[in-house]
Amino acid sequence: MSAPNPGALPLHPTPVKLQCTFTRTLRPLETLRAGEVGLYACGPTVYDYAHIGNLRTYLCEDFLRRTLEFVGLRVNHVMNITDVGHLVTDADDGEDKMEKGARKAGKSIWEIAEHYTQAFLVDLSRLNILTPAHMPKATDYIAEQIDTVRAIEEKGLAYVTSDGVYFDTSKQDSYGTLARLDLKGLQGGARVELGEKRSKSDFALWKFSPPGTTRAMEWESPWGKGFPGWHVECTAMSVKLLGPSFDIHCGGEDHIPVHHTNEIAQCEAAHGTREANFWLHVKFLTLGGDKMSKSAGTFLRLDDMLSQGVSPMAYRYLCLGAHYRAGMEFTWEHLKSAQTTLERLYQHIERLPQGGHVSESHLAEFRAGLCNDVGTPQGLSVLWTMLKDDSVADADKRATALAFDAVLGLHLDAPEKGRVAVAAPSEVQTWAEQRQQARVEKRWADADTLKKQILEAGFDVLDRSHGFELKRKG
Ligand code: AMP
Ligand code: ZN
Repeated sequence: MSAPNPGALPLHPTPVKLQCTFTRTLRPLETLRAGEVGLYACGPTVYDYAHIGNLRTYLCEDFLRRTLEFVGLRVNHVMNITDVGHLVTDADDGEDKMEKGARKAGKSIWEIAEHYTQAFLVDLSRLNILTPAHMPKATDYIAEQIDTVRAIEEKGLAYVTSDGVYFDTSKQDSYGTLARLDLKGLQGGARVELGEKRSKSDFALWKFSPPGTTRAMEWESPWGKGFPGWHVECTAMSVKLLGPSFDIHCGGEDHIPVHHTNEIAQCEAAHGTREANFWLHVKFLTLGGDKMSKSAGTFLRLDDMLSQGVSPMAYRYLCLGAHYRAGMEFTWEHLKSAQTTLERLYQHIERLPQGGHVSESHLAEFRAGLCNDVGTPQGLSVLWTMLKDDSVADADKRATALAFDAVLGLHLDAPEKGRVAVAAPSEVQTWAEQRQQARVEKRWADADTLKKQILEAGFDVLDRSHGFELKRKG
């Protein structure tokens, strides 16, 4: 495997240690550029709503990003939007997920992509996940993907069949290092339908549109009309936006054996570099012991929580309490108890006076927990210990909790935002804010009019000591 650091540039130390899947070790994070981190996270395929399992992964990536920023690093966070069809199975066969989604909804594939992209952005904002600096769409980078495939072909690592261009994994000694794949075992194992593929682990770089059909999304290429293989987009876009080798790549644990393995293979073939220096993977959220999954069609969404009166911040709190490398079994009981604990936290902080100073010793402890592989459970426990510590003045407790919130992201400075347990439309949220302002300014008639508007829209607004809470009526 080539060096992760193509130009043999010196690496720059940071205070953070991360467990890297590639090396299977907890290593100090060293970056290619001083004070900066290039972070790539595989984003959603926008053919359906994100489920709370996907959202766990994005939340954990947000905890990572905020930890890096907390210690003073500048993070260039890229998350792709897969808006081009890829196939239902990782084995490069089956139906196209996007086209299937469009047919199900009776809409065009572009409308589907736009609708679910917007829904995804709303989910990120409800969970207070910081917006990535770049959210490239796969369909905006077709030329770069074709260039990537061409470079792989020029190195002699691709072959063409009647249905596409494939990566020849047998020609790359390092193939499968990330997942510690046993390629001999794979080949000799269960009999598989190879079609024209030479080995089971070979994967599509470009797929041809089936002869005689016009796909909703297809592009001309040097090999024929068609569309890119799923793994190509992440290599093409990460190289374009972060360079041929960058600091951290993350995603859910399912990406280890196929998607990330193939990204690494493509980047090494096309550019001679290890795509990323650190590989981080979030363990699955399970429901009744099974992986929550979109393609199986059985999953929970953030909206399902909202309709049960649970706020998105309660889910964020729940995820903070489970380390990203530990599996997490979802239960309503755990979620509701997270909501109760979060409410206790809000009320506790609302009672504390303003104007204090950050307790440096607790801040150091909090930082140490996070620097150790994004230890969010430790972070929460330092928060509670600090709040109960009689040696810390009340105002200082508040200041310290708010400093921690740069990573926790629980809206501790504005609990009314965190309490919203309904999908209130933005205009209702705005009326509630205007009403609160009217009350502060003692414009009672205005406040009453706004309250009436809110009620007519089907919501109720409850006054809290430091703000308001919106609830669906009835
Ligand atoms: P997808 O939209 O299916 O490509 O998934 C988006 C992200 O969510 C990827 O990083 C996946 O690895 C991750 N993911 C998928 N299912 C789960 C799950 N049940 N728990 C946690 N992360 C998941
Ligand atoms: Zn990816």
